[in-house]
Amino acid sequence: MSWKEKFVLMRRLPLAALTVVAVVLPLWIFEWGPSDAALLDNNATNGLTQAALDLRASAPIDMLDLAPLPQPVVQNIKVRKGDTLMDIFVKAGLTRGNAIKAIQALSKIYNPKRLRPGQDIEFVFEPAALLEPDDADAAKGELKQITVHPDLFREYTVYQLDDDKFTAKYIKQAIETKLARASGKISSSLYLSAVNAGVPVLVLMELIRIYSWDVDFQRSIRAGDQFDVMYERKITEKGEFARYGNILYANLKLGKTDNPLYLFTGKKGFSDYFDPKGRSARKALMRTPINGARLSSGYGRRRHPVLGYNKMHRGVDFAAPRGTPIFAAGSGTVVYRARNGGYGNYVRIRHNSEYSTAYGHMKSFRRSVRRGSRVRQGQIIGYVGSTGRSTGPHLHYEILHRGRQTNPMRVKMPSGKHLKGKELARFMNVRAATEIKLADLPKSKKVAQRTKKLILAK
Ligand SMILES: [Zn+2]
Repeated sequence: MSWKEKFVLMRRLPLAALTVVAVVLPLWIFEWGPSDAALLDNNATNGLTQAALDLRASAPIDMLDLAPLPQPVVQNIKVRKGDTLMDIFVKAGLTRGNAIKAIQALSKIYNPKRLRPGQDIEFVFEPAALLEPDDADAAKGELKQITVHPDLFREYTVYQLDDDKFTAKYIKQAIETKLARASGKISSSLYLSAVNAGVPVLVLMELIRIYSWDVDFQRSIRAGDQFDVMYERKITEKGEFARYGNILYANLKLGKTDNPLYLFTGKKGFSDYFDPKGRSARKALMRTPINGARLSSGYGRRRHPVLGYNKMHRGVDFAAPRGTPIFAAGSGTVVYRARNGGYGNYVRIRHNSEYSTAYGHMKSFRRSVRRGSRVRQGQIIGYVGSTGRSTGPHLHYEILHRGRQTNPMRVKMPSGKHLKGKELARFMNVRAATEIKLADLPKSKKVAQRTKKLILAK
């Protein structure tokens, strides 16, 4: 809006109305929840743009409480002759200090001398990005747990707690793996449709997590879309259900497009999901760098409820309670970490020559994350607040492509790893094997509930 237009507008409005506008305006601008007042450009064009109309037409269907956590990174390392726990833990990337602490905790329930060649040790890490697509180690964030599997019936797990302490737990009499499959059509809600089809909630959450790189569950899922998932159930020697294992295959059919994904473990022991051509489902940037949040305001022009003209919102807002952790959407370098006008406490991360992401209104920054720090995807960088010109606690999130803000819900994400050569050939074999298992479990087949039946171990 030009100066002249503003002047005309001011002369037309009585002073009282102007006062109301000046005071109440920031609280009114955003019809869907807390949002930011300062990050909008005035724009005098009338009528909602398509983007804004889309946003209204697609009020969230469901899944608001099941916003996905970033997917953990799982690495299996096989014990070789002569290996000690220390060798293996260091190989998995633990510092010697942490390895010692983890071994001390584990030793309370497991004798390290019983370690045998051929055993698998499983490491679970918080996720980080595959910006360097061929460097799977770069994807590992902080360690969460380590499990020693001496045989089918025993598991010894060490958990790393938040304060860098370790605790260990022994689970006996695991496990035989059974496969289950569930599929269905989405009616009003993915959640209800999936649960009605027999998909356990934990499996459903994992399904959402697998697809969260590409599918915006608050906007992209429509009635009539279909899901199909094949997953593992772990059964004890007594035939009792123990826990769910991995999803081996999933397909979300959105409109007319199938989006199948297959679980594949690469040669370094990393497991991940890949499309039929061997492209990783894991992307370089997350669309929603926060957990459990509600999209409160989308990208694009929005009609001003009082003055009637439109404003451009160059990011998306996620409403979340004050103090909710905010994740780095991708690995990169922190290039800005300070107050920044209407953005309040603001962080910008440069991911590569093309992409940056920005985060506004933070209550506070994570202490260890400073300007110049290298951060990993999924690492906490700060906490939700309402600093700057904001009307309530929320995260204002921007994805910048070549320095320009783009719509995080629409931008085509830079892709992750693409399998090549021998790895691709191995993947194609795994994919074929998975498809044979799928064919053995027809879509209509109900989830097996054989909890009483005795299943003999081999
Ligand atoms: Zn915003």
